[in-house]
Amino acid sequence: MENRDPLEVFLNTVQDGFLLLDREGTIVRAGRWMEERFPSASPLAGKKCYAVLHEKTQPCAGCVCEADLGADDPCTCILSRESEDGRTCWLQTKVYPLRDADGRFSGAIAHITDITAQKCTEERLKDEIYRRRLLVDQSRDGIVVIQQDGKVYEANEKYARMLGYAVEEVRELHMWDWQEGFTKEELLHMIETVDAAGDHFEQRHRRKDGSYYDVEISTNGAVIGGQKLVFCVCRDISEKKAMERQIREMAIRDPLTDLYNRRYIFERLDEMEAEYSRTKRDFCISIIDLDNFKTVNDSYGHVVGDQVLKEFAGTLAASVRRCDLVGRYGGEEFIILSRNTGPAETIMMVERLMDTVRNKPMMFNDREISPTFCCGIAGRSELPPEDSSVDALLRRADARLYSAKDAGRNCYVYSEAAAR
Ligand code: GH3
Ligand code: MG
Ligand code: MG
Repeated sequence: MENRDPLEVFLNTVQDGFLLLDREGTIVRAGRWMEERFPSASPLAGKKCYAVLHEKTQPCAGCVCEADLGADDPCTCILSRESEDGRTCWLQTKVYPLRDADGRFSGAIAHITDITAQKCTEERLKDEIYRRRLLVDQSRDGIVVIQQDGKVYEANEKYARMLGYAVEEVRELHMWDWQEGFTKEELLHMIETVDAAGDHFEQRHRRKDGSYYDVEISTNGAVIGGQKLVFCVCRDISEKKAMERQIREMAIRDPLTDLYNRRYIFERLDEMEAEYSRTKRDFCISIIDLDNFKTVNDSYGHVVGDQVLKEFAGTLAASVRRCDLVGRYGGEEFIILSRNTGPAETIMMVERLMDTVRNKPMMFNDREISPTFCCGIAGRSELPPEDSSVDALLRRADARLYSAKDAGRNCYVYSEAAAR
């Protein structure tokens, strides 16, 4: 043991490959690791380094063995080869030039390491990154990752498109550049409190052009590289929201006139009654019925009758305040709910409406129709305590409407006194 060459011991012990080369690239000594790795070329001594490693007949271009470049830096190359058991393995070779006492190039040492595991990990990682990138890029949802300071950390193409920016532009934005309804401080607080359990909510985002869209967001907080990040998956739900709004509207509107339907009007009336109980602020209802409408149908036909109803409904809707509600009460009957309003103001509104209708005959196929109407007005505060309910109010307005009919039509009644 004590007589053994230390270099020999070293070469046969280390779990890396070593080749001692002369100045022509001929292998002078080889470690056991190399002999075992290249069994078909073993023994390696006397063979050319490039023949064993690269199965070449010429030295590799740029190798220290091929040309003394005067530098002491090793040259590196990576090669893949099939091992005895058919698997691909990757070897990295570093060739270090050797110099004699006068500094002349005298040979080289090749240090060979198996980097197969590292290569496989790299490949797997590349694959993983590619697959994740693909998931993020191909996602039908917008994905944006927000830093603790509110700035965008990363966003996908879809998210940028949703906001109307280029991806590069989105990366320069902060959350408050698109988020509606929250201050910067509130948003920073939200970022701080998002945790791994995440959250799910609906919000509105502002596009680059200033327009808004409805968005459904799922958030998750995670710490990556010591930095807390908030992951947001965003889905544009504008169409869904618009459809919901449309369905809601359809459920509360009368299809012919587009005024509120009876059911909606009754719900609002109940609300107004509850508000009256609390505040004692008066409100009024006006029930309107077109005069002799049967004659319109009989003379011009049902289709024209429908047109008259539509146009009359349009005039009604245009004549009230934004806070008032107009509904179709029945066939040719309508109702106006005047919120926070006493009889005096309501009477003025009805008079204005009568003037408008009287002065604006309707034209259908060159035929002029001048409908008139009767109206019964009742105010909530005039009801006696023993008979105070929505029902009582409607009965009162209805009775006044019939008084107006009895008085000869084309007039309104607001009390038990004469029609006007
Ligand atoms: P009055 O002055 O007493 O109110 O007379 P009127 O003819 O208006 O009242 P009546 O109750 O006798 O007739 C109401 C008419 O309204 C009869 C009905 O066919 C018509 N009508 C109800 N709903 C509609 C509708 O949706 N379209 C059309 N074209 N006519 C309708
Ligand atoms: Mg009627
Ligand atoms: Mg009528």
